[in-house]
Formats: sequence, C-alpha cells, structure tokens
Amino acid sequence: MPHTLAEYIWLDGSQPTTCLRSKTKVINGSVQQLKDIPEWGFDGSSTQQAEGHFSDCRLRPVRFFHDPIRAGEAILVLCEVFTADKHPHPTNTRARLRESARVHKEAESWFGIEQEYVLFSDGRPFGWPVSGYPAPQGPYYCAVGEGNVFGRELVETHLQLCLDAGLHVCGINAEVMPGQWEFQVGPLPPLAVSDELWVARWLLQRLGEESQIHVCFDPKPVKGDWNGSGAHTNFSTKQMRASGGLQEIELACQKLSQTHDAHMAVYGAGNEQRLTGLHETCDIKTFRHGVSDRGASIRIPMPTVDVQCGYFEDRRPAANCDPYLVCRALIETVCGNGFVR
Ligand code: ADP
Ligand code: MN
Ligand code: MN
Ligand code: MN
Repeated sequence: MPHTLAEYIWLDGSQPTTCLRSKTKVINGSVQQLKDIPEWGFDGSSTQQAEGHFSDCRLRPVRFFHDPIRAGEAILVLCEVFTADKHPHPTNTRARLRESARVHKEAESWFGIEQEYVLFSDGRPFGWPVSGYPAPQGPYYCAVGEGNVFGRELVETHLQLCLDAGLHVCGINAEVMPGQWEFQVGPLPPLAVSDELWVARWLLQRLGEESQIHVCFDPKPVKGDWNGSGAHTNFSTKQMRASGGLQEIELACQKLSQTHDAHMAVYGAGNEQRLTGLHETCDIKTFRHGVSDRGASIRIPMPTVDVQCGYFEDRRPAANCDPYLVCRALIETVCGNGFVR
C-alpha cells in the first residue's frame, strides 16, 4: 500500500508573536483532494493553546501543497486549530478572516505581501564580521557581488522550493541591511495570500535548519541605524482595479486614517522599534498617505497614479505580523464600517 507523508502545519498560541508548529502523519494511500486528508490533533498544553488537564486541540486541514522537500508522495497541510468541543480556537485568527472575507466577498479584494526577514548565523546577521559592524547601509539593497550579498544560496533555494510547492511567490530581493532579504507573495485573495505566506515562512525556517541559519522576523533585529523588517501589504478591490479606481483608493486612505491605532494593535509586536520615523515609513503615531512616498504609512505606487487605478501599499505591518489579522483589518476598514480589534 503506497503512503503519503503529510506535514500538518498550524499556528500556535505563543505571545506576543505566533509561531509555526508542525508534525508528520503517514497517510495510507494517496491524497487527491482536501477531504482525503484526515483531521488530527495535538497537545495544546505544549503550544500555549490548552491547559494540561484538558489538553487536546483539533487540527482541521484547510489547504494543502506539494511538499518540495520530502522525496516520494508528500504534502504540506495547513490547518486551522479547533477546540475539543469543535469551536474555532481563540488563537484561530484564520477563522475570523474567513468570516470577514465571506461578508465582503463581492469586493474581490486582492493582497500582495512583501515579507522581509534577516538571516542569522552564529548569533549575528549572516555575513556580519565576528566583531564590529559591516560598512553602513547603502550598497546592499538589490546588490550583486561578493562583499555586498550574504546568503543568496539559501534565498534562491527557498524561492525554488516555494515555486515547486505551488506557492504564488512573485519575486525576491536583497534588502537594505546585509543579511536581510525579502520575498513577495501574491496578488491573491485574502485567505490564499495569508495561507501561502505562512507556508512560505515554514519552508524558509525549515530550510534554515539544514545550514544552521536562523530566520528572524523581528521588526527590529539589530538596534541602531539599520532598517528593520516589515511586511508591506499591497491591497486592491475590484473597484480600485477598474477604470477611475484611484478615487476608491483615496476614499480607502480616508477610512484608514480613522482606524490607525486599531490596525497598529494587530500589525506585529515590537513594531514601535521599527516605526520610529528614522528609517522609511513614518513613526508609529502618525498616519499619512502619499504618492510614491516611502516615508508615508500608505504609499500609492506611481504606476497606479499613471493609469488612475490599481492598488495601494500599506507599509505599516511588521515582518512578524499575522497576515490573517492584517488582511482582516484592511478588509473591515476599507470594505466595511471600520475595524475594531
Ligand atoms: P515595492 O516596490 O514596494 O518593493 P514589490 O515589488 O516588492 O513592491 O511588491 C509589490 C507587491 O504588490 C507584490 O506582492 C504584488 O503581488 C502586489 N500587487 C501587485 N498588484 C497588486 C494588486 N492589484 N492588488 C494587490 N497587490 C498587488
Ligand atoms: Mn518590495
Ligand atoms: Mn522591502
Ligand atoms: Mn514595499
């Protein structure tokens, strides 16, 4: 009897930043569709999702991908967490996005998320000298060449793994700090982009194990005059993408100016360390939007202004954000009547 190796992946209850967990199930036979993948469970008392005396949590598969790492028949199974009595677990942020996406389905919202991160090796950013600092920021963004680029091998392998898994990763680039990188996912509907981002993060961390490289999503991993890591979230609705959509984008920016604090509360822990106003994007207390303005909270890209329709970029989310929460906040504010956490 052939079998399928299924890696069940879920979000834990770690505070203030959710972490990924996963474990393997050997499934008899092959998997063609979601309903071929059985529900499973885990010990919630080890993931900050339950008490020891009543510890079982349920894993409900919601999307699966080809596993590009394991040989033979193998899949990555993204799951939602449910309580023993079959309610969405309080940590199940996907369930809340599922509801918002359903209510505002007709808006046809699309998201593209730019995931920045820093590779660490031996306790310091990859490629940094054993003591002291590298030369200041300047040459590293989108760089080529020895001395400017650190960690490309892992980054390239990650891109290939994502594409092999069927993820919609649409680009990668070296970032402003040596050892810092970015990949982009999308554009996709809210649940799909968030699911794929979590799986792409899982693949990156899994790959890092092979070469003892730690993937750091902290918004400000190195203090001082070094850019932090964000997760710029690009957003559009059907109306914004249609002729004259720039007006819709302006309207969205007005609405977003009213819900700034509520958004910041779910845009990632430690984001105030990153949004100081000194390194791109304005400080965490200020909301501002502008065309082509990388010092603003919301940037309207030049190509969108050129053709008077398209999308906008929310530059505020931190690299460690939960995309289920970020997408929900944007949908609720822009398509609904405002966002309350
Ligand atoms: P930046 O110039 O800010 O570095 P990137 O090229 O890194 O921009 O990322 C652009 C992002 O915008 C990608 O994730 C892409 O999927 C997304 N995107 C493109 N078109 C749309 C759209 N119509 N709606 C939402 N997101 C979009
Ligand atoms: Mn980018
Ligand atoms: Mn970037
Ligand atoms: Mn950007």
